[in-house]
Amino acid sequence: MRCILCNMPLFLSQHGICCQCLKNLPALNKVCPQCALPHSWSTHICYRCREQKPCWDELIAVANYIDPLKKLIHHLKFYQKIELTNALARLMFLAWYKRRERYGILKPDLITCVPLHHIRYWSRGFNQAQQLAKPIARWLARDFNPYLLQRKQVAMDQKSLSLNERTKNVASLFICEENLSGKSILLVDDIVTTGNTINVISQQLKKCGAVNIQVICLCRTML
Ligand SMILES: [Zn+2]
Ligand SMILES: [Zn+2]
Repeated sequence: MRCILCNMPLFLSQHGICCQCLKNLPALNKVCPQCALPHSWSTHICYRCREQKPCWDELIAVANYIDPLKKLIHHLKFYQKIELTNALARLMFLAWYKRRERYGILKPDLITCVPLHHIRYWSRGFNQAQQLAKPIARWLARDFNPYLLQRKQVAMDQKSLSLNERTKNVASLFICEENLSGKSILLVDDIVTTGNTINVISQQLKKCGAVNIQVICLCRTML
């Protein structure tokens, strides 16, 4: 077994990435703990989050959407390699663990993932957020429910709707019918861009009773 980045032989084959490459990964320093965007005080919430509070509580990202992670995610999309999935999931778990050590964040009760759109599911055949979430749930020794949220099919053409109807349409894209009272949830996604999707999902989860939502992703695109 070799390092998936530099091809050096590995001592611990299940890790996928060697210590040197791990050290060289671009670190996300000085980011807001709630939105993971650049911010000078990583112990405080940024002005964006204070102005418009996201529905989730913590966002943990491994890195920016840049190489080598960008390349690895691309690779993951087209070749379903279990070693690569595990190596990337491990990076996410380590980022979560670091946050917990430093700021004492909760250990979640339940792990779930962002569902893939039906059409994308058929063409690609698997949900990579789900693949990444599975080993994380195992390492945390918590229940994993990849189908906590269902994505509704949007039958109507968005263009024929008024702005108000369109907003409602997006808000009702995800449904959750589980009772989550008092539960803390860890939501897994591969890439977080605008944060709209995870916000709508978090809103749904809180409506179902969830008290705390942590989101963990591999990459956070910097706006
Ligand atoms: Zn390496
Ligand atoms: Zn923020």
